[in-house]
Amino acid sequence: MAAEAFAALEPAEVMAWVEAQGLPAYRGTQLLRWFYRSPATSFEAMTNLPDELRRRLGAEFTFATLAPAVVRPADGGDTRKYLFRLADGELLESVCMHYPRTATSSERTTLCLSTQVGCAVGCPFCATGLAGLQRNMTTAEVVDQVLAVQRAEAAVGRRVSHLVYMGMGEPFNNLEATLGSVRRFCDPLAVGLGVRRVTVSTSGVVPGIEALAERGGGVNLAVSLHAPIDEVRDALVPINRKWPIARVLAAAEGYARRTGRRVSYEYVMLRDRNDSLDLAERLGALLAGRLAHVNLIPYNAIPGDPFQATPEDHIQAFRRCVRRHGVECTVRDTRGREIEAACGQLRADAMQATAV
Ligand code: SAH
Ligand code: SF4
Repeated sequence: MAAEAFAALEPAEVMAWVEAQGLPAYRGTQLLRWFYRSPATSFEAMTNLPDELRRRLGAEFTFATLAPAVVRPADGGDTRKYLFRLADGELLESVCMHYPRTATSSERTTLCLSTQVGCAVGCPFCATGLAGLQRNMTTAEVVDQVLAVQRAEAAVGRRVSHLVYMGMGEPFNNLEATLGSVRRFCDPLAVGLGVRRVTVSTSGVVPGIEALAERGGGVNLAVSLHAPIDEVRDALVPINRKWPIARVLAAAEGYARRTGRRVSYEYVMLRDRNDSLDLAERLGALLAGRLAHVNLIPYNAIPGDPFQATPEDHIQAFRRCVRRHGVECTVRDTRGREIEAACGQLRADAMQATAV
């Protein structure tokens, strides 16, 4: 039988395992710190742990469930895209974006992470959606991708400060791994990020939003809305036929009320598809008075798909229109364009390269 992934264990289980080895509790705390917060890349490298403990760890557990395959820098090194190979050969990607300190904001490094290899939702403008679902990732794989990036970023003097579930996959179609990894990222005995530094993005899986409200500890929620009316959204986000806008908004409102957190609505700007000023009016009217924020995303073109990006001046006009309803609305910066940071694209490239 394959050794169990260390990242699959809850911190309490690690503490119990250490105790069962006849060791004092502080060894468990040391081990957790090494694993979750240091650049060490093996149990062997945990130099202040007894040899025997390191040996037993190596015999019983897999240190990492994935191996870095490619790192591609862009934006002068401020964006780094990681491609990983999983044990069964599947590829997954994560994008890390560094924002240097400015006069008005402190330094931050945001990691965009994946929860599935591929995605079954099938949004037609998304490279991940076009490729379909290969499989769910395990909790350990989701956690290990963050730890691997954290260690590699530490090597260039950066600390991952924020996590967004906006890479490959629909997090709520892999609910247990999503909730399990959120728990690990926020646990002070594990990664230990504050809940406000973690954001889960969903295409609108209503039971998932409800489960996150119950069990997510109050992390940020982003909803990929992309249209304010069902007839437009049905074509852009196919699960809208199962959970239409009214139901998604009701669940998101419930989330906002329960956690006191403002929900972020993502809206990818597709020329002549969802970007008319009439739709901006409807979007503003739909969200007015709610605990909401709209994030307009410039479309990142995918070779061969039928969409075009909305010109920048029109994005600004759309934004002003939404704001006139008293709804806060910003435009996302287009980090990593040159390395194709839209979800799924690097993987699509690598698959092609390996196919050839
Ligand atoms: N599946 C989840 C999270 C991953 S996608 C979701 O859909 O919310 C993260 C965000 O990237 C979503 O808002 C998605 O709609 C957007 N996105 C996908 N493809 C894109 C593209 N080609 N250009 C710009 N944004 C895109
Ligand atoms: Fe899946 Fe999100 Fe891409 Fe839609 S946008 S296909 S839900 S990853």
